[in-house]
Amino acid sequence: MGSKAIELTSIPHLLALYSKPFNPKSAWDWAALLMIAVFSTIYLSHGIVWDRPDPHHYIWYKKPQESESLETRPKATRNIAQKLEEAGKNCVVFWGSQSGTGERFAKRLTKELQLRFSLGSIAIDLSDYDPETLSLLSTTQVAVFILSTYGEGDPSDNTTAFYEYLIKHDATLHNLRYAAFGLGSSNYQHYNRVVDVVVERLCRAGAQRIATTGKANDATGTTEEDFMAWKDGLCNALQSYLGLNEQAMCYQPNISALLDESLDLVDLHMGDPAALQSQGKQSSKSSAIKHLNILNTHELFKGGTRNCLHMELDLAEQNIKYKTGDHLGVWPKNSEQEVQLLLEALGRSGSGDVPVLLRRLDPEVSIKVPTPATLNTLFRSYLEICAPVSRDVLAGLVQFAPTADAKTFISNLAQDRQCYQDLISHTQTTLGRVLGLASPGVPWSDLPLAWVIENISTIQPRYYSISSSSVLSPHRIAVTALISAETLPKIKTGTEACTIHGVTTNYMRALAQKLPHDTETHTSAVIPYHVPADKQPRIYAHVRRSKFKLPLNKATPIIMVAAGTGLAPFRAFIAERAKVAASVPTGAMWLIFGCRAPDQDYIYREELESIQNNLQSLQSSGGLKIVTAFSRSQEVSPKTYVQDRVTEHASELLDLLSEQGASFYICGRSAMARAVGSRMVDAVRKHRDWDQAAASGWLDTLKRQGKWREDVWG
Ligand code: NDP
Repeated sequence: MGSKAIELTSIPHLLALYSKPFNPKSAWDWAALLMIAVFSTIYLSHGIVWDRPDPHHYIWYKKPQESESLETRPKATRNIAQKLEEAGKNCVVFWGSQSGTGERFAKRLTKELQLRFSLGSIAIDLSDYDPETLSLLSTTQVAVFILSTYGEGDPSDNTTAFYEYLIKHDATLHNLRYAAFGLGSSNYQHYNRVVDVVVERLCRAGAQRIATTGKANDATGTTEEDFMAWKDGLCNALQSYLGLNEQAMCYQPNISALLDESLDLVDLHMGDPAALQSQGKQSSKSSAIKHLNILNTHELFKGGTRNCLHMELDLAEQNIKYKTGDHLGVWPKNSEQEVQLLLEALGRSGSGDVPVLLRRLDPEVSIKVPTPATLNTLFRSYLEICAPVSRDVLAGLVQFAPTADAKTFISNLAQDRQCYQDLISHTQTTLGRVLGLASPGVPWSDLPLAWVIENISTIQPRYYSISSSSVLSPHRIAVTALISAETLPKIKTGTEACTIHGVTTNYMRALAQKLPHDTETHTSAVIPYHVPADKQPRIYAHVRRSKFKLPLNKATPIIMVAAGTGLAPFRAFIAERAKVAASVPTGAMWLIFGCRAPDQDYIYREELESIQNNLQSLQSSGGLKIVTAFSRSQEVSPKTYVQDRVTEHASELLDLLSEQGASFYICGRSAMARAVGSRMVDAVRKHRDWDQAAASGWLDTLKRQGKWREDVWG
């Protein structure tokens, strides 16, 4: 046996053995041959004679929500001219936005063009088509661009390729007829820059603009109204350019919504926003959405209408990572109060738990929410039912009014901007509330569910700057959220004032109260949420990468300016720097922090002061200097903002920036960030005797070099 084994290891011997003809001699040889033949036949007949695939397998085991993905679709074209021809449309509305507003406007516009003028239109994600194919459109077709501007005048992720194409190429687009609308905020320096650049480049490429370019200004809260005003102008321009006839608009559903009690619970979507995200594209800057356990929460301050919540979430068992300075996108749920109000207004109070099956009626339109899901799930988790309804949406409601009074009420709101503004200024105008106000006690039974789903935006995540350091706590992520309630002015004396509660922060508070050890320490939730009582509280969230990062060189001094909860990322910066200070030399840290009063909302004060003390004894550390500005504490100082402190310390800050190569960070409201920037420009003018242009250029250079970074909201 042993010698045979040695023999078989030699390759020539092995070949010789197998090349000899097999000559069965004994009964054992014949039996072995038979066995081999039987097993080979069984193996080769798999799937033909036995274990054949069941032709009806997909019927028995397919989940309704999988039906779309099972369709064998041909590879989609990236040629926009070909797409329009295949779809039989003459107008394309491209949207380039991240937050969902641009997409919502694009879809609303295409629907209106279709209903009002029978103009075949299609709403399209800019990144789905190759920009050079715009040159193939004919002069009887029109392209509309709805484009958002972010941060430092940047395009959205899905606009980047198109934007770079226009900037880097000398495109020739003589046949292109187009119109454009920008979404932006005048709180930012580069207000609506993206739409300006695109219009300028299209003009240079020979394209012809057929309508005035519109711009929405989020800072004045007029985004909806700005869009409507521009849309009116665009419709007039399209009418005369394409010779369109206007007709009365009647609702034509793009989807069908069927209440189907026969569906099994196991087939239903239960509120996971990942299913919502899979309808669109996931941004390359974001992690997957995960259901994170809430480990610990505490209130940093409480009192009056403002509370501040510190919440820590568990990443340990999730495959997501974060870096100090990143953002956490929290997916909220709507309060039960709002869900019930809407169900009642629709006359569907008893149908909350009934599954709804959605199907598309127009092949070019996708279903924006996961299906099937119960009405409760749709209203709680997938649709933004707490947002105010726009006048455009109200105009579409008129045809379904259950009473003559309701019709008049809604028509007035839809047509009269002042009437709408008056209502919105003293009460909350969610769809459920407006329907109830229009016809108290009489439900809107004729309002199709499909209309509601098509006309309410999908729920969006709310972003918080992460307040923990990924170096110190890689598996535990912290956020700092201010829970506020906005009280609107009363209509007249004697009436009750209306209070609007933040959707996400109140949901977070409701979850925090479910933590067994924290029940006592939290302020009671003011509005009810659907939170399973028996389970560990969890929240859906994802990490979004940001450029708000500490300098790589730990010896670089850092200047941090924050107001209110804008302190969040600096808590992480300071803790991380303090930790490494024990082993490597670290640069000086300046924190200029503003809040109302030291005894009201000075968050993380003890923690910061303790780090400050510890660093004092460390030779290798540049230390932490804390400068405070209190806006509502007459005892400590007169009303002071962080920008006042920046002016006071201007010469030290300029020295840190210019002589020591410091990095400058701002976090908080955008108005504060603008004020801080302009105070630094004033300071450099004064100290260096520069003119305005040179001083502004200095700030722009710092920004370009990444030495000046802002993480601002609102
Ligand atoms: P507050 O509204 O409580 O404001 C904090 C301090 O800033 C107060 O003293 C306030 O003074 C003062 N302030 C108000 N306006 C200005 C201004 N124009 N310039 C300078 N100071 C000003 O803060 P919040 O915590 O409510 O909000 C902070 C902002 O930071 C919000 O816009 C929030 O969205 C944003 N933010 C929040 C983050 C988070 O993770 N939670 C992260 C990044 C930004 P007074 O009110 O007395 O006039």
